Amino acid sequence: MKDYPVKKNQELTVTITDLSHEGMGIAKVDHYLLFIENALPGEVVDIKVLKVGNKFGFAKVMKYQSTSPDRVKNANEDLLRTGIAPLSHLSYEAQLVFKQKQVENNLKKIAGMPEVPVLPTIGMAKPDHYRNKAQIPVRKIDGKLATGFYRKNSHDMIAIEDFYIQDEAIDEAIVKVREILERFGVKAYNETAHEGFLRHIVIRRGHYSHEMMVVLVTRKAKFFKGETIAEVIHEEIPEVVSVIQNINEERTNVIFGEKEVVLYGKSYIEDQLLGKTFRISAPSFYQVNTEQAEILYETAFDFAQLKKTDVVIDAYSGIGTIGLSVADRVDHVYGVESIPEAVADAKINAEINGIENATYLVGKAEKVMTQWAREDLKPDIIFVDPPRKGLDARFIEAAVNVAPDRIVYVSCNPATLARDLKLFAAAGYQAEKVQPVDLFPQTYHVECVVLITRKND
Ligand code: SAH
Repeated sequence: MKDYPVKKNQELTVTITDLSHEGMGIAKVDHYLLFIENALPGEVVDIKVLKVGNKFGFAKVMKYQSTSPDRVKNANEDLLRTGIAPLSHLSYEAQLVFKQKQVENNLKKIAGMPEVPVLPTIGMAKPDHYRNKAQIPVRKIDGKLATGFYRKNSHDMIAIEDFYIQDEAIDEAIVKVREILERFGVKAYNETAHEGFLRHIVIRRGHYSHEMMVVLVTRKAKFFKGETIAEVIHEEIPEVVSVIQNINEERTNVIFGEKEVVLYGKSYIEDQLLGKTFRISAPSFYQVNTEQAEILYETAFDFAQLKKTDVVIDAYSGIGTIGLSVADRVDHVYGVESIPEAVADAKINAEINGIENATYLVGKAEKVMTQWAREDLKPDIIFVDPPRKGLDARFIEAAVNVAPDRIVYVSCNPATLARDLKLFAAAGYQAEKVQPVDLFPQTYHVECVVLITRKND
């Protein structure tokens, strides 16, 4: 067996030297790394080793010998334990610096671009209760329906009612919906046995409109008194304009199944974003922090320097938030998105807002971009807003082939962003500047906008 400098259950004193990208304190013993929850750089802590792995280990704090000036009192340990708010022990100012550094490190280490300026993270004035969406597992605890969140790296539920980062009206609605379901004798899902009925309660609330959608994710299609329950939910929470049953029969961590049934009202909610109205269906993506999403998009539009003659591509377009927001400032918008329901929303959103110069297609961005290139579409600006895995190399190839002046990359993962910027650079497109915008206060998630321009040579 390999010799490690620490053993399981060993107790020792260490100094925290760094914060991992997931917000865990890091201490080095010889060259071996220990990851420690609720520990900040500079703190000296007595720890107990929990786990010794091949490359690194985990430990927990037994006692703080000294604490960081950046530490804030976090009354609720559950927020750290569940990973709902894993940075809530760090002052908000320090969180913003942490995020800027995350981007800088990735640009330096992965992209090899230490020279690209990363601007200070734009934060929120009130960095709590910002989420417009909640996805809450339901389990049985002490014979009753319970809502809360899983302990990190496990599926043990911790009952929670104040989620701290969610819209408070959503927190209240979760409790009310749970009580109504309890009254009707609805059974919670049991994950281990793959039995029971109600898996998740998902709630979305329009930041401006206050329209609420409640999605009940169930293991089986047959929902005894489903419509009556939905009516009662609307009666007791008048903001609810849509109650949907989503059926997920699989043994899976994926929340939504394929099938859905409208139990009450509409199949969507509407909200406003940058003065336009957007319809959002249950399977469609919508940024969870509306206030900051507006700043994110404004930054992206500012970087794009749009002109009335511009042809614009909105890739990974969701319900069309980016493209439709700029349609009246440009010649034409072409959008592509892989989820059909989201594209249906985008088309209706164009209509609702009286936009006639936008074309939205269902498809994989990498395929449709290649097709557009073949059809000789010549965009001036390409907006990309991919999921965490970043862009497909084929997308980058097709995008640079149509030679846009500028590409504006909205990223939710600095590591894949850095990887992609390297590919763009190899194809003659240079990253000019990066603006992180904090869409996820109290968590380690980092969102940023990058301006990428074609080199003139
Ligand atoms: N721009 C939108 C959505 C961004 S989220 C907004 O700001 O709201 C990323 C979107 O990319 C999701 O809607 C997801 O469904 C979509 N997506 C994921 N992989 C894709 C692919 N290969 N091609 C096209 N769209 C994809």
